[in-house]
Amino acid sequence: QVKKSGRNGWQFYTQAMQKESEEKHQLFNDLVVAIGQNELQVYYQPVVRASDGQVVSCEALVRWPQSEGKLISTDLFISVAEERGLVNRIDLFVLRNSLAFIQQMNEELDTKVHLSVNVSPRLLHLRDEDAKAWLDTLRQRQEVDLTIEITERVLVEDSDDTHEVLHELDLAGIRIAIDDFGTGYSGLSYFSRFPVSVVKIDRSFINGLNTSETETTLVETILLLANKLGVQVIAEGVETESQAAFLRANHCDMLQGYHIAPPMPEKEFLAFVKRNKTSVVESH
Ligand code: C2E
Ligand code: MG
Ligand code: MG
Ligand code: MG
Repeated sequence: QVKKSGRNGWQFYTQAMQKESEEKHQLFNDLVVAIGQNELQVYYQPVVRASDGQVVSCEALVRWPQSEGKLISTDLFISVAEERGLVNRIDLFVLRNSLAFIQQMNEELDTKVHLSVNVSPRLLHLRDEDAKAWLDTLRQRQEVDLTIEITERVLVEDSDDTHEVLHELDLAGIRIAIDDFGTGYSGLSYFSRFPVSVVKIDRSFINGLNTSETETTLVETILLLANKLGVQVIAEGVETESQAAFLRANHCDMLQGYHIAPPMPEKEFLAFVKRNKTSVVESH
């Protein structure tokens, strides 16, 4: 029972905190083992061109499969990995695997699907070894068109390291996307300070399309702004046809979400791209 005040209330609070930190510690230990045993997987979610539904890109999303069909949310284990300095290894694993897979898939299907990977703020600080390995992998990538997704938080902090890395990536032809756009503390000045080429409108805004006037206006405004700045827009979390229709009508470039397809393992994703290719070719 929660006690509202006094010694027992405090005691309950510290016990709850203790329990949470023990659980996180356990999760962290399990994650270290899982990485060591190569248990993490990469799923792929298609990103389609709004105008004709063609798959132009995909987002690589890490998964940690559990025995007994249990599911650990990616947000949860990524945040634990971030707190304890393990996320770099995950990002490196995802980058290496997804580059190899997309390159192979594009050869096999004769497609040019782009790849987008998430990167934790930690990797954009040049100090650690993983960051070096990650950058080397980026530089050595072959034909795959690559975007890295960062959150506004990274740009707001604006360290010299970040500046240097992002400009180097830009020179190497790697695109930079702002993930969860609209949820950060955005002063918009970072558009002039950083080489941003894509914004991904956060799904909380897409969710409110057709139901909330505020959200609808915000999405319209983001689309106008991006258009003026020459920045491409991806709508995240598109779940219904009416959302998709609104976005097409307002010249959103690309769509991503369950309405198109969920994140999928390699084989399913490949089959999806294959079907999509045939259907788009036939309809022309
Ligand atoms: P994110 O980068 O914003 O990824 C989009 C999330 O939205 C994914 O969650 C995806 O499964 C989910 N999603 C896609 N379409 C829909 C939809 O229509 N409706 C709803 N409700 N959700 C949708 P996921 O895979 O659980 O990943 C959560 C977050 O974890 C990601 O958010 C990203 O910030 C982080 N993350 C995932 N993979 C990696 C990684 O390899 N490295 C790093 N550093 N972070 C990662
Ligand atoms: Mg993302
Ligand atoms: Mg997002
Ligand atoms: Mg997110």
